[in-house]
Amino acid sequence: MLTVNTVKELKSAVRAAREAGKSIGLVPTMGALHEGHKSLVDRCRRENDVVVVSVFVNPTQFNNKEDLRTYPRTEEADKALLEAAGCDVVFMPTVEEVYPEPDTRVFDLGPVAEVMEGPMRPGHFNGVAQVVSKLFMMVEPDRAYFGEKDFQQIAVIREMVRQLGFKLKIVPCPIVREADGLAKSSRNVRLTPENRAIAPNIYRLLSESLDFAKSHTVEETIGFVTEGINAYDAMEVEYYQIVDGITMQPIAKWDDTNYAVGCITVYCGDVRLIDNITYFRK
Ligand code: AMP
Repeated sequence: MLTVNTVKELKSAVRAAREAGKSIGLVPTMGALHEGHKSLVDRCRRENDVVVVSVFVNPTQFNNKEDLRTYPRTEEADKALLEAAGCDVVFMPTVEEVYPEPDTRVFDLGPVAEVMEGPMRPGHFNGVAQVVSKLFMMVEPDRAYFGEKDFQQIAVIREMVRQLGFKLKIVPCPIVREADGLAKSSRNVRLTPENRAIAPNIYRLLSESLDFAKSHTVEETIGFVTEGINAYDAMEVEYYQIVDGITMQPIAKWDDTNYAVGCITVYCGDVRLIDNITYFRK
């Protein structure tokens, strides 16, 4: 596995691969890698000749300075995981390397970015679009892999790809969970032991709502999940919305969509957790 820190080295590594006629897959990450990231790398490994993984805590997508400051950084363990997963090139740049000058681009990502995480995390998706578009320009991958844990992010990236005309395939990958159901996340390590013990109730309520939804309205289902989670003192739902899985727009009735996905964010203590569940996809 080749570790590169500069854009120049990255480009030269992928140029060599491309000239040899090889397909290139990219997995963008912010490090503190776990089994969720590994599942993306594994899939990328199966589907491409060359696997490139970026590990970069992108400051422009953090709307909260404290979250950026405390974001876990585990560079050596990340390299070991990637080496074992068969990654070919890991790109670990500095902030100056990615942003030699401030990125002043403002994306208009349209309706997919105007709901849920959009208003809750102002600037977040713009920062995601900035860094992912830069990575796509540097690597020019054939395929790029993203986790469905960040469900809305995939729709936003598809829109960015459409607007900028990138010729690549976005591959969504299923959520990887802990044995108790909690979606794996780099931020889970920040949970106190007490909060870590109650956090799996998020997925429990989401799962139980699948059955509840069969005989209740969208609004009642939202109430079931929200009240169930808020019943735990240390947890507070920031939003729970049931949306169309493509447009991200909230639905009022089950019949409004062929693809219903419930997207949630919950504060568990001061850690913001995100998860989602698919009700149906016809
Ligand atoms: P992050 O390092 O958190 O920015 O995540 C990098 C990529 O890994 C994103 O596409 C995430 O959606 C994905 N990812 C993170 N956690 C999981 C998980 N538990 N299951 C599947 N994909 C994940």
